Order: sequence, then structure tokens, then C-alpha cells
Amino acid sequence: MKFAIVTGVSRGLGLSIAKLFMEQGVHVFGISRNKTDQLSRHAADNNVIFKHYSCDLADNSAINATISEVIAELNEQEVTGLYLVNNAGVIEPVDQAMNIRADDIINHIQINLTSSMLLMNAFLKKATMDDLLFIGATVSSGAAERPVDGWSAYCSSKAAVNMYTKTVALEQDERKTENKIIAFSPGIMDTDMQKQIRSSTKEEFAEIDKFKAYKENDLLRKTDTVAGVLVDIITDESSVINGKIYNVTDYV
Ligand code: NAP
Repeated sequence: MKFAIVTGVSRGLGLSIAKLFMEQGVHVFGISRNKTDQLSRHAADNNVIFKHYSCDLADNSAINATISEVIAELNEQEVTGLYLVNNAGVIEPVDQAMNIRADDIINHIQINLTSSMLLMNAFLKKATMDDLLFIGATVSSGAAERPVDGWSAYCSSKAAVNMYTKTVALEQDERKTENKIIAFSPGIMDTDMQKQIRSSTKEEFAEIDKFKAYKENDLLRKTDTVAGVLVDIITDESSVINGKIYNVTDYV
């Protein structure tokens, strides 16, 4: 049985990823602070297991407790393959770098980067110890490669996600394992994160008019479309290229 651990399943891209894994017969362990009943119903409809773990990814001790709980649950199951999708993320703080408070930077890096690294490291180890096929993906952003005025935290955390991905992939290549570690840039999607971006002021975020126009001109992709691309990439296991930063625009 294949299991996918997905973070940020309460809404947006993560909710779609969890649903589409289930439709492919993959059992899902979802992590977020809030829970949606949609996923339990979807699991029943698709005859797969869904378990939700409430966890604040800003809190390292909560992450460690969740990792232990998920591993205990995996130990009870007949697992043949393990996928991890680090999808949860935040855009804030959005402002000129000199105006950003220290606590907000720490919180941002913890959610967007540290939590992803902790989860990847833990489940890569678990899969290695149990000799399971492992594919680990982290959701990145075009902002990883392009400086954006007002997004110093976000551009930095996503750039670090890409380099972390390439480094862990290199380690796996060097040791000739079959594990694959990738990142995925999902493009612009119609989610709460975009709503939050549009609520910035021009002083905080210089490109605000461009992002408002994305919504007005219906240019934001649906999360189901984007999630479908990522789930297809991951479940086509033998074609996954270790260390690759995939981009949705190459597929849609
Ligand atoms: P979203 O609609 O704001 O959803 C974010 C998800 O992350 C929620 O399920 C939320 O769950 C979870 N999350 C946030 N903070 C958390 C915390 N402290 N602990 C646990 N979970 C937390 O965002 P989205 O647009 O779907 O974004 C998904 C991913 O795509 C992110 O990595 C984002 O950077 C990336 N991305 C998005 C866009 C876009 O246009 N939307 C573009 C490029 C990249 P809870 O609130 O329930 O905890």
C-alpha cells in the first residue's frame, strides 16, 4: 500500500493534492492546524485511509510529536511506498525588509523551510530504514528564482527549499539509492494565499496591481489542475528525476 504524507491539507493546493492522491488509491496522512471533513468523506468514497494530524508547523516540538505519531501509524500498516509532499506555506511577512519584525522572520522560516527539512529528513530516514520506495517533494515558487520587492522572507525561504532539495538529492545520488527528492513550482493559483497577497498595501508590496490583475483577468489556476500535475509526476515513480525543480508551466 502506498501512503502519502501531505502538509497544508486544510485548503488550497494541499487539499487538492490530498484528494487526487486518494483518487489514485494512495492512502493519505494530512497535516495542518485545521481539519476539513471533506477529506474523510473523500477517503471513504475512494476506499482509502485518511488520517488528519493537527500540528502547528511553527512549533518544533509539535512537529516532532507528529512525526512520531505518523511513524507509529505507518508501523501498523503494510507500506510498500512512501510519498511526502511539503506543501504548507505562508507568504507573510510582506513588507520592505527593513520594516520586518524579527519574530515574523523566525516564524516564516520555521514554517516554509525548517518544518519541511525536518519532515523530509525524518521520513527519508524512515523509508531508508524500512527499505521503502520514497519520493519527497516540497512546494516551491517562482519567487525562489526572482527577487520580488516586499517578499524578502518568501523569496529567501523558497530559494533555500530549492537548494535543500538539490543537496539531499545529491546525497542520495552519491549513495546510489532509489530515493527521489524534488521540488515543484506551482505557478499562480486561486487560493487564500493570493487573497492575502492582494490585501497588501502598495508600500508593502510593489507588484500589488499586477497580482490584482491576475485575479481580475482570471489568470489564477485552479488548485485541482495544479495538484493533478504534481500527483501525476510523483505517482509515475520511475520517471521522477531526483533533484529536479519541476515547474507546472512545463505541463499545462
Ligand atoms: P493557502 O491556501 O494559504 O493554504 C496554506 C496551507 O498551509 C493551509 O492548509 C494551512 O493550514 C497550511 N499552513 C499554514 N501555516 C501553517 C502552520 N503554521 N502549521 C500547519 N499548517 C500551516 O496556500 P496555497 O496557495 O494553497 O499554497 C500552497 C503552497 O503553494 C505553499 O507552499 C505556497 O508557498 C505555494 N505557492 C502558492 C502560490 C499561489 O499562487 N497560491 C504560488 C506559488 C507557490 P492551516 O491554516 O489549517 O494550518
